[in-house]
Amino acid sequence: MNIYADNAATTRMSDVAVQAMMPYLQGIYGNPSSLHTAGQEAAEALAAARQTVADCLGCIPKEIIFTSGGSEADNQAIVSAAVMGARRNKKHIISTAFEHHAVLHTLKKLEKEGYEVELLPVGSKGNITAQQVADAIRPDTCLVTVMYANNEIGSVLPIAEIGAVCKEKGVIFHTDAVQAAGHLHINVKEQNIDMLSLSAHKFHGPKGVGALYVRSGIALTNIIEGGAQERGKRAGTENIPGIVSMAAALKDACEHIDENAVKVSALRDRLIEGLSKVSHSALNGDPDSRLPGNVSFCFEGIEGESLLLLLDMKGICASSGSACTSGSLDPSHVLLAIGRPHEVAHGSLRLSLCESNTMEEMDYIVEEVPKVVDYLRNMSPMWKDLVNGRKPFIL
Ligand SMILES: *Cc1c(COP(=O)(O)O)cnc(C)c1O
Repeated sequence: MNIYADNAATTRMSDVAVQAMMPYLQGIYGNPSSLHTAGQEAAEALAAARQTVADCLGCIPKEIIFTSGGSEADNQAIVSAAVMGARRNKKHIISTAFEHHAVLHTLKKLEKEGYEVELLPVGSKGNITAQQVADAIRPDTCLVTVMYANNEIGSVLPIAEIGAVCKEKGVIFHTDAVQAAGHLHINVKEQNIDMLSLSAHKFHGPKGVGALYVRSGIALTNIIEGGAQERGKRAGTENIPGIVSMAAALKDACEHIDENAVKVSALRDRLIEGLSKVSHSALNGDPDSRLPGNVSFCFEGIEGESLLLLLDMKGICASSGSACTSGSLDPSHVLLAIGRPHEVAHGSLRLSLCESNTMEEMDYIVEEVPKVVDYLRNMSPMWKDLVNGRKPFIL
């Protein structure tokens, strides 16, 4: 069997997304800034895509800026709010300890430039509350940036409540919604979101294209300087095939959002039920407020990396922590943030599903993962210490 269960890292492009892109590769290839007919055809496609993305988020087209993906959107949102804040002597930024690195590393950079960054502690289920945000807001707070849903452990945060708190206190609210867009209902106006990042390749669109929603009235700071594209806020000839394809993928995902959620969460729950039976294991994240496709476990006494390699040999593509942390020996900052000790955080497994996965695949995973965990535990000195009582079990 060949099973792709790493949809939080990236997804397969859908037929809808591929078909939407095709006419713009060779047929309508003009530069939308050109005044001739070929250019204007591309400009029309760009405008239509912007309308589609705006409709999916509940905003107007001029509030959408196209970017190269989620990371760029996160960078631009955060830097823009910071620059606006500094003009009024507000240099305090609130975020959480388990954000994506595109957010955390941007905040690190701002810290070096004299901003004060406060990372809210995350609860053991991977949640933060709107009350925590309310309590942290100060007169000099210029930005609250909290992710919509966590990419590693799948917890979904109370975004509308946090939005309401920020609106009441007059603080800009940005959310990294890369894991949520196309998977959960979003309405930026109803949820009082000022800025929102999304990325096409997380909802069956192409890689290297994303969008930033920016509420009218918020001044953007350029990350990329050059031509006057995107209202002068993001230079560079627009990725028309990618943008058109992203819009089609987002529309498709939003039109099927409820039926996909029902199907995918049934697959998820089968895995959670099956893998929970492994001894000394624990589900990471919130069992209830959870992305439909996310399954995340820690297995005590093993290394996640070896687990992944052995699962790969059995045809199962999974992940341990985030794709961005893999390759480094540090345990995931997300698992540490929810209080998993280092030795437990090392034995993590994330399976992230989509609507084209099947129940047969889930059954296969539920059969194979415990075998591989057992095999690795039997070779592990860590595990021997645990079973001989030289060290206490944590899970
Ligand atoms: C994937 C991801 C990103 C980065 O998006 P890219 O388009 O790959 O740059 C940012 N935040 C979250 C939560 C993600 O899952």
